[in-house]
Amino acid sequence: MVANRELMTTRIMPTYARLPVTFERGDGAWLWDNNGQRYLDAISGIAVCGLGHAHPAVRKALCEQAGTLIHTSNLYGIEFQERLALRLTDLAGLENAFFCNSGTEANEAAIKIARLHGHRRGIESPAIIVMENSFHGRTLATLSATGNPKIQAGFEPLVQGFVRVPYDDITAVESLASDNPNIAAVLVEPIQGEGGVRIPTPDYLPKLRRLCDRHGWLLMLDEVQTGIGRAGRFFAFQHANIVPDVCTVAKALGNGVPIGACLAGNGAAEILTAGTHGSTFGGNPLACRAALSVLDTLEQDTLIERAAQLGHTLLSSFRERLNHVPHVLDIRGKGLMIGIELDTPCGALVHQALEAGLLINVTADRTIRLLPPLILADGQSQWLVDALCRLIQSFSQTLDRPDQ
Ligand SMILES: *Cc1c(COP(=O)(O)O)cnc(C)c1O
Repeated sequence: MVANRELMTTRIMPTYARLPVTFERGDGAWLWDNNGQRYLDAISGIAVCGLGHAHPAVRKALCEQAGTLIHTSNLYGIEFQERLALRLTDLAGLENAFFCNSGTEANEAAIKIARLHGHRRGIESPAIIVMENSFHGRTLATLSATGNPKIQAGFEPLVQGFVRVPYDDITAVESLASDNPNIAAVLVEPIQGEGGVRIPTPDYLPKLRRLCDRHGWLLMLDEVQTGIGRAGRFFAFQHANIVPDVCTVAKALGNGVPIGACLAGNGAAEILTAGTHGSTFGGNPLACRAALSVLDTLEQDTLIERAAQLGHTLLSSFRERLNHVPHVLDIRGKGLMIGIELDTPCGALVHQALEAGLLINVTADRTIRLLPPLILADGQSQWLVDALCRLIQSFSQTLDRPDQ
């Protein structure tokens, strides 16, 4: 098993600290490893498999499309891309879509839109306001936008044109309005995912919206993790009753088939013109069929309402069970994006959970992050609460009695 793992990974660049497990198949919220061991997947391939694994609707769409037409390129019309753009823009209240293959690419498109927007307004060196602890991806522009020095280290010179302020601090953004005439846009996550499931105060996005309107800045929301029902609405911004100018999505859009989109409206829709941006694979028939099957299933099975309701249940169960457990600092969440923050690094819990047949994640060192699939059943949800609370309780006890 160990030898096998080493054999398997030696020819892969060591960019990931992988857990010692390899999965062979999945069904709904369950995964099976290559020893036949079963796991409850409470991370969904990092917010990707919202419909769970091996969903019949996605499989049917993919099999049909693979047997018909997978790819032709954007040299030609693509009917399913048109249909998907219509669905997504209607859902967002925006006007059009650019399709790509990942979250980082969706954000690259947004950054390019912001730069063109700035130049159009006569700004020679346009800047984008970004946040501390943010995550926008790993390409050079998006890692430069990302507010995490670990992700940037060694890749200097970074891409210029980003101005950073603390998250959920509207005053900091306001003061830039008077200090910096180069601002063209704000790029922000409605809830910070990698940053530790940070939920801003309810008036943060509405206030950002007003500031952007007043100064002619684009409000660009990175919904790569929060979108497609994850936070209990189709887009997390719908909790705040605003509409952004640009919105990026990816992760859950294809339930595992790589696809990303940059949606735009309110003047931002006309900025990218022929020849200014492109992608070979972006929005190909296979990926768009997968995404359409995801949207159909979310709607038919009212899974977003389910995510909101299940999220409430999970949050109150965790609060009830963990309220008085030492070292548990905060339990927060929206929909099926849940963070349990401890007062100490808790990466070891990921390994302990794995041993117990549960897949979780720890982000920002101290925050246990849960991103279970939207199809999680009540019994599975209860099992998740029981298993995780037990693990956290014993983790907390060992911290206080390290020799036991
Ligand atoms: C995951 C993520 C990205 C990057 O997406 P990739 O598909 O990995 O490129 C960007 N922004 C946010 C908020 C994310 O969670």
